[in-house]
Amino acid sequence: MIDALPTQGVPAEQVLAELRGLRSADLPTHGGRLFAYVYDPARAGLDELAMSAYALSAHVNGLDPTAFPSLLATENALVAAAARVLGAGPGTAAPDVVGSVTSGGTESLILAVKTARDAHPEIEHPRLVIPSTAHAAFAKAAHYLGVALDLVPVDPVTCVPDPAAIAAAITAETVLVACSAPSYAHGVVDPVEQIAALAAERGVRCHVDACFGGWALPFLRRIGAPVPAFDFGVPGVTSMSVDLHKYAYTPKGVSVLLHRDASLRRPQYFAFADWPGYTMINPVISSTRSGGPIAAAFATLRHLGDEGYLELARQTRDAVAGLAAAVTATEGLRLLTPADYTVVCLTSDDAELDLFVLADELAARGWHTQPQLPFEGIPASIHLTVTASVAPQVAQFGPALAEAAAAARAQGPVRLPAELLAMAAHLQPDQLTPELVGGLAESLGLGGSEPGAAPRLAVVNTVLAAAPPRLRERLLVEFVGLLQRPSW
Ligand SMILES: *Cc1c(COP(=O)(O)O)cnc(C)c1O
Repeated sequence: MIDALPTQGVPAEQVLAELRGLRSADLPTHGGRLFAYVYDPARAGLDELAMSAYALSAHVNGLDPTAFPSLLATENALVAAAARVLGAGPGTAAPDVVGSVTSGGTESLILAVKTARDAHPEIEHPRLVIPSTAHAAFAKAAHYLGVALDLVPVDPVTCVPDPAAIAAAITAETVLVACSAPSYAHGVVDPVEQIAALAAERGVRCHVDACFGGWALPFLRRIGAPVPAFDFGVPGVTSMSVDLHKYAYTPKGVSVLLHRDASLRRPQYFAFADWPGYTMINPVISSTRSGGPIAAAFATLRHLGDEGYLELARQTRDAVAGLAAAVTATEGLRLLTPADYTVVCLTSDDAELDLFVLADELAARGWHTQPQLPFEGIPASIHLTVTASVAPQVAQFGPALAEAAAAARAQGPVRLPAELLAMAAHLQPDQLTPELVGGLAESLGLGGSEPGAAPRLAVVNTVLAAAPPRLRERLLVEFVGLLQRPSW
């Protein structure tokens, strides 16, 4: 039992020991064997530097940049750095670029959509057009902000959106068109030049979501990767987002949202003077926010420098090539999309080689990948976000993948009772009760699994894959609701 508020305080050393104990059940954040959630450059001393910088500014409050000029200075430096990486700043096609530091990609995207919406107060029912491969955070933004979402299907083979289809979805109510560079799920860089040109033709803003790999692409291009134009060098791109807590390898909590000029940014701000307290002026969603992540990000960028990121890009490129080769060498597996940048996304054409079972078998061997469900003609896949720390692991990945594939084949695909599959396919979301989900979770072995034991998720993924999206959502809400209970 973990009591966050004991009657008598617990000594510091003991608290830390308890936390270390809890942390030991987590997936490994370092070491290059977790291919999602974490971004590890494997640079000696970098964590220590970032944590010292974090500690220096943890109690600084971003609420008021005039009270804490250190925060304003480091934020402005991060914005300038991100702008330069993305083809903006003095001497470029976007010399008047401005931006803000946010807490993450989701906040950057919510603000990009809010800014576009509020630039058009005359549009009563604003709409957002995105390819179906754009990050789910756009759907969240649209939902939060009362903006209607127009999802444009992509080519199910290449996962590339069709600019003409995007253009066709634009109406007089469209306030924003967005695309990805690259997409999270498949690592595909959308045809930004065409999409931005078509949006500009209609007088609509165009956001390029470079949250995921926006920091990696320019460095990969400089070492020879075939990166198409995707940044502020492209006319018609009005805003961009890039997460520093991804390929800039900073601790979590830092993303940058950029606008081509200050007039485009103005509707992002929220100012309010109709209350008796301090006059509120917020550039981002949070009001009080810690200086810790910003200081840590500043220290990380400054310590690694341009050359450091170039070297990390080399290691990432080599790791991606090695993993991709291991995939294509494995019978029954193939790359779903070309492994050109930082993602390896694989699928199986062999009914006897179940990807969800394969993901579990890899996890049982210490390789943690991310299964992706089938969607609108795009087959199920396994996603690997590859960072520089993976490079030294590549030689061991090939044999591990071969072994896991053999084990998955021997086990055979997940076969669920026909009634269960039929139920998953036809159950209405509002028929789902907490009891039903609890029973389902238990029957799938998710209830009381011992901490630390790798759960077998293949069955869960198979049930989810059989369910339509609305039911998938409801199942996940109910399931996570079961997990999130106070620990009395
Ligand atoms: C990660 C990601 C986001 C969301 O970022 P968070 O930092 O998780 O909020 C948005 N877009 C893309 C393409 C991403 O990869």
